[in-house]
Amino acid sequence: MVEKKKVYDNILQLIGDTPLVRLSSITKKFSGDFFAKIESFNPGHSSKDRIALFIIEEAERKGILKPGDTIIETTSGNTGFSIAMVSIIKGYKCILAVSSKSSNDKIDMLKTMGAKVYVCPAHVPADDSRSYYEVAKRLHQENEGSVYINQYFNELNIEAHYKTTGPEIWNQTEGQLTHLIACSGTGGTISGTAKFLKEQNPNIRVIGIDAFGSVLKKFHETRAFDKDEIYPYRIEGLGKNLIPSATDFDIIDEFIKVTDEDSAHTARELARTEGLFLGYTSGAAMQGIKQLQEQGEFDENSKVVVIFPDHGSRYMSKIYSDDWMEAQGFFDSKREAESQPIEI
Ligand code: PMP
Repeated sequence: MVEKKKVYDNILQLIGDTPLVRLSSITKKFSGDFFAKIESFNPGHSSKDRIALFIIEEAERKGILKPGDTIIETTSGNTGFSIAMVSIIKGYKCILAVSSKSSNDKIDMLKTMGAKVYVCPAHVPADDSRSYYEVAKRLHQENEGSVYINQYFNELNIEAHYKTTGPEIWNQTEGQLTHLIACSGTGGTISGTAKFLKEQNPNIRVIGIDAFGSVLKKFHETRAFDKDEIYPYRIEGLGKNLIPSATDFDIIDEFIKVTDEDSAHTARELARTEGLFLGYTSGAAMQGIKQLQEQGEFDENSKVVVIFPDHGSRYMSKIYSDDWMEAQGFFDSKREAESQPIEI
């Protein structure tokens, strides 16, 4: 084990080397052993710290970025936060083009982290000059020496996880894992981690978590883009309405779909049973494990690693708000009764 430093020079030195924690309560009736890679231990509270640091340092190595240059991305979520954090420490300007659907909380958080935020209209086609894709592209062209992270179509997204998340899991399990379960959004996490792990042991089963309303599972099965699969859903960060080149579909054995409602309840259950306060997609990944258990995927020899991507604090006004749950029609008063506060 790497000896922990007593003092770090800056927050970026704490990226990666996240803990692997055994799940015991929520998996009590399941076959096999279950271990969770808790990515909220990254200083930016998500796995996206890894790709932000890796892609920016690659650009530095190639001489593309020099102090004072600009880093651009289209995201209001975890990737934006991580890029802003890395930019502060390394002395870059950070510009984020976000959709007007983003909550004020998110925009305030990014501004707090020093990012310049362009809020672009949500309901315009992707090729409209006002869309956040087009705004990001234009800003990239206008800022010489800028780097456009473009996480859905950037091979370095896969490589970041191939070089860090994969080896960490292999070492933490001493090579004993039989299954890797991970959410797929850009696909960088699952593809890079799986690539490393399958190079060590090609028999490891790799299962991606997708959302109802996303094209990924169908594309994996048919290699055809079926736009009828696409409809709105609530889970943020998982599933997609396009095919990202940062997903290596050949390395993933299977996709499984989970619902918004089940994923929200399972995230709440993870908090109550394991003391793990995590994001919506962590609930989705755990929900996927429940469904796989029902399908007979595991036996007593299974050693299952699941990646939990981010922290629960970013979802207070969503899955951890009873009002929000109620408004979605998710709230089941019998199921939640025991956790209600008692007013005196
Ligand atoms: N969960 C959350 C909360 C995310 O923000 C993301 C990234 N979009 C993912 C899961 C999926 O990770 P990846 O993009 O590497 O597939």
